[in-house]
Amino acid sequence: MSHLAKEAAITLRSTGGRMTTQRRLILETLESLGGHPTADEVYAVVRRRDEVYAVVRRRDPRLNPSTIYRTLAWLESAGLVSHCHLDAGPAGEHSERYDPVTPVEHHHFVCTVCGQVREFEAPQLEAIKAGFSTEHKVVVEKAALTLYGQCTACKDTRS
Ligand SMILES: [Zn+2]
Ligand SMILES: [Zn+2]
Repeated sequence: MSHLAKEAAITLRSTGGRMTTQRRLILETLESLGGHPTADEVYAVVRRRDEVYAVVRRRDPRLNPSTIYRTLAWLESAGLVSHCHLDAGPAGEHSERYDPVTPVEHHHFVCTVCGQVREFEAPQLEAIKAGFSTEHKVVVEKAALTLYGQCTACKDTRS
């Protein structure tokens, strides 16, 4: 089992839930894909794997896109996965992408030419979060910062 799947199994046990084959497949896929896949990209990979399982177990494939969305939403509510909105890809299309939760909050740089997504940490944001909390008497839970531009390779091609 992958790291993410193991953590999910522990979370599940504490809430009386079960680690189903589908949940495990989705977690393992999310972890192996890396790079902030969309739900559709997760589905494409998981469906192929599920078809293999189905042949082995002599049953019909069980996955459909709504299973993927439901499971991703469940994983998010369990605090194992988060989603971010990134305008990525050559057309700058807006997409919801899934990301395993990391112990330290991270942010994203998106290359608007090739769609590459890079992660970075921004400890400077802690001061903004704390300042806003105090000034507005609210609780800030997280921040999501996305920087857009051209990656090193794309910048060199263009100039
Ligand atoms: Zn990320
Ligand atoms: Zn690029």
